[in-house]
Amino acid sequence: MQIAPGVHHFNTDPFNWYVLEEAGRLTLVDAGFPGHFGVFMQGIRSLGREIEDVEAVILSHAHADHMGFADRVARAAKAPVFIHRNDEAAAQKVLQLPWSALLSNAWRPYMAGMLTRAAVNGVFSTARVSDPRPFEDGAVLDAPGRPHVIHTPGHTAGEVAFYLPDQRVLISGDTLVTRDLYTGSMGSPQLTRRRLNDDYAEARKSLDRLKDLGNVTMLPGHGHPWQGEISEAIALALAG
Ligand SMILES: [Zn+2]
Repeated sequence: MQIAPGVHHFNTDPFNWYVLEEAGRLTLVDAGFPGHFGVFMQGIRSLGREIEDVEAVILSHAHADHMGFADRVARAAKAPVFIHRNDEAAAQKVLQLPWSALLSNAWRPYMAGMLTRAAVNGVFSTARVSDPRPFEDGAVLDAPGRPHVIHTPGHTAGEVAFYLPDQRVLISGDTLVTRDLYTGSMGSPQLTRRRLNDDYAEARKSLDRLKDLGNVTMLPGHGHPWQGEISEAIALALAG
């Protein structure tokens, strides 16, 4: 689904990932689980593209629900996988997830369903990223769509948001989401639950790094897109 010119949204519920398109070349932003590769191929073919048209894979952070088919696409397309320097080491390991928070909430029906979908879609066979290319805060990535990197540590140390100034699109990863991953309920912009974060206090503080973006279309890692003033999104998240 096209959200803005050259920005396509894929929802393999409840895991979002995105494809940026510029002059027929593609950037994959996050990569669900391994089992979502088929949805990806169908999606880019519906755009008239093939895997060779992927020029870059970029990751908002190194959690397994965002890395699923990244390495597979990168190998097939001979494309680099970009990730923030602070998550570079984690991207080279498998099954990076906040397991204790996930498993201690597995009694919740939504969480149980999500963990089941993760397993069915191959989370346990997620490939590590063999050769990640690290980037820094403020980088403008050499990738179709020219995403700007805003480092927003907290969820993980290398968590980032990607900003596309021309479309005023903010791909927020798990910095800001619109779905509660414990209950599944959709809502306004929010942080992920405290224990899903490596450092919750830092995650709250990082929102300040987004505050000057003005009116945006926010595309989160989980939940539906949200449009409005980023200051409002930040206020809602801090109050939530
Ligand atoms: Zn996530």
